Amino acid sequence: MRYGALEAGGTKMVCAIGDENGNLLEQYTIPTLTPEKTMPELIRYFAERRIDALGIGAFGPVDVVPGSESFGKILHTPKVAWRDYNIVEPFVQALSVPVGLDTDVNAACLGEVMYGAAKGLTDVVYLTVGTGIGAGIYSGGRLVHGMLHPEGGHILIQRHPKDSGECICPCHTHCLEGLASGPSIEKRWGRKAIALTDCAEVWELESDYLAQGIMNLLLILSPQRIILGGGVMQQKQLFPLVRQKLAKKLNGYYDTPELRRLETYVVPAGLDGAQGIMGCLYLAQNAKLLETIE
Ligand code: ADP
Ligand code: ZN
Repeated sequence: MRYGALEAGGTKMVCAIGDENGNLLEQYTIPTLTPEKTMPELIRYFAERRIDALGIGAFGPVDVVPGSESFGKILHTPKVAWRDYNIVEPFVQALSVPVGLDTDVNAACLGEVMYGAAKGLTDVVYLTVGTGIGAGIYSGGRLVHGMLHPEGGHILIQRHPKDSGECICPCHTHCLEGLASGPSIEKRWGRKAIALTDCAEVWELESDYLAQGIMNLLLILSPQRIILGGGVMQQKQLFPLVRQKLAKKLNGYYDTPELRRLETYVVPAGLDGAQGIMGCLYLAQNAKLLETIE
């Protein structure tokens, strides 16, 4: 079998071909322009490679609920050209193969569960801290959708008393994404996060916010592991700080073997940036399997 994987991001589209053992055979990236410009190129790429199924991890909000009337439709995204565009249908029509779809963060979470830092676990949260903050949630052995899909980046956290920075989320006054994403760090401190490595106060604040977000997700979902990925988490000094602050905030309330070893509980992503595309590859395999069963 040849599986196609598409990580559909707001700035770039990563396409890949892989096999049923999770081997990536080739990869190709193009910028995300308008559907009119970008989709034909994507369709051509996968058509030429004669794939048996396609898996898509898409930026959201997007209808990922199988069986829903608008399954595949990108909803109220700030990327206006893609608003109300159905990203699944053109592939189904042009390629006549089953197409699996989930959000980009759920796909990344799935990639880590199947091939990476959470292999074999049934309950995992993947938090990406980048341009935005998103939480991919795998619970009880499946990706969580619910009404639409979780939006774990927008949970409310407590603002630090010394933080006079702005919450950059247009909808909330103190959500995790608005206070702790890469652009929010840049806005608060006046420089890109990567240029702030040596400023201890930046990471003190950032780790406090991340620990709050993680604590909330942990208390609700009780995951066996939490994986932190995305550009901001390249700042490796964040990991020990986040673990310390998480332990302090939990304050002994929740005692499990996993939480007694926080260095294996809150961990960096394991696939070197490939978790998203690997998750899409698995979505493709799953779509093929479902078709076979039906
Ligand atoms: P995206 O979220 O757009 O998919 P990334 O996960 O790379 O992409 O996140 C981009 C954000 O992460 C930007 O705000 C950028 O400033 C920040 N970032 C990227 N690399 C680093 C780094 N090495 N250290 C700190 N911040 C980084
Ligand atoms: Zn928000």
